[in-house]
Amino acid sequence: MTYLDYAATTPVDARVLEAMLPYFSTHFGNANSLYAAGRDAYHALEAARETIATAIGAAHPAEIIFTSGGTEADNAAFISVLRRIAPDGGHLVTSAYEHPAVLELVKWLGKQGYDITLVQPRADGRIHPEDLAKTLREDTKIVSIMHSNNEIGTINDLKQLAECVHSCGALFHTDAVQSLGKVAFDVQDLGVDLASFSAHKIYGPKGIGALYLRRGIGFDALIKGGGQESKRRSGTQNVAAAVGFAEAVQLSLAERDSEALRLADLRDHLIARVTSSLENTQATVSEGARIPGIAPLLIKGVEGESMLLQLDNQGFAVSTGSACSSGSLAASHVLLSIGVPQEIAHGSLRVSLGRQTTAADVDAFADALVPIVEKLRAMSPVYERYFGRASAQHAPKNTGGQKDAGV
Ligand SMILES: *Cc1c(COP(=O)(O)O)cnc(C)c1O
Repeated sequence: MTYLDYAATTPVDARVLEAMLPYFSTHFGNANSLYAAGRDAYHALEAARETIATAIGAAHPAEIIFTSGGTEADNAAFISVLRRIAPDGGHLVTSAYEHPAVLELVKWLGKQGYDITLVQPRADGRIHPEDLAKTLREDTKIVSIMHSNNEIGTINDLKQLAECVHSCGALFHTDAVQSLGKVAFDVQDLGVDLASFSAHKIYGPKGIGALYLRRGIGFDALIKGGGQESKRRSGTQNVAAAVGFAEAVQLSLAERDSEALRLADLRDHLIARVTSSLENTQATVSEGARIPGIAPLLIKGVEGESMLLQLDNQGFAVSTGSACSSGSLAASHVLLSIGVPQEIAHGSLRVSLGRQTTAADVDAFADALVPIVEKLRAMSPVYERYFGRASAQHAPKNTGGQKDAGV
């Protein structure tokens, strides 16, 4: 298999696994027990917390709450904070292209009586401060704008957005799951009050993440019980996973800059190969700050699902959009939100590259994709009519799928 879906999840790095293993057996103690084995686990847990706090520029390790992942961190950021600062309702703002962990949550909060405003990204794939400013009100309690988008890879200028949010007195949360370890992210520099992270997007284990909660913000735990995580997330801590998360963060940071350059090169090479070999094909966004490993493609006149299944037959794992929206035939809410027309949005592929991806993988992928698309287009009764000759005049030269076209 050639795995090209690193934005959905990543394999656990061998070095991460090695760091975790002792905490399943040798150091299996409960971090809350007072004897030596408990203390060992406690120290490992707190060291992991400190590593993550330092990595994101938090002022204090106690600002890190371990959660079961990015989804729980997003839920806690809204629900636990709202119970303290606005239990009876108020106004919440988020963007129309968030991960479902935020979008479905605010939809539910809307049913609980909160007023919800969705700010639209522009065609460049970003939230603009002047658009956000227009949504803010006196009773706005929390604004949540993701740092980088998991489908199209665009990065938002959070510093500007946070200033705008704080001027109206609201709290600013960001889903930074796709940014951690890939691009610069510092909570104090950006001025965010709350931020969500997940380990399995950066070669750590699934089932652990973290919420950054700036000191002084009221918080009523989602999960109550033994009072772990300073009463903010009860349940015996998963020390092995926390150790793995911290190791994954450290490795990602140590390799971040060189890996970012390598992945951006591979991404640009992939996009160039595909767009030069196939007419009516483009990168969904191609300008400005982006996380390096995501190649979002629009391939007109073909269903993303059809390409995905045929690529799967040939051993390539890619996505049509966010993992949660595939499996349904609805076009990606992310692409629609940036103004991609419905019929074109159906032809989306998200190819995401990572630590194990090589130039040979990218070439093999392009070699496989080109004939698949040509065949699907040839079979399509509407392709020629809607996307054929007339629009091809404005498209890149069709080089007929030759293997080294456009390199
Ligand atoms: C993967 C992802 C999540 C969910 O994280 P889990 O740890 O899988 O719950 C949330 N937000 C974004 C942007 C993601 O990519």
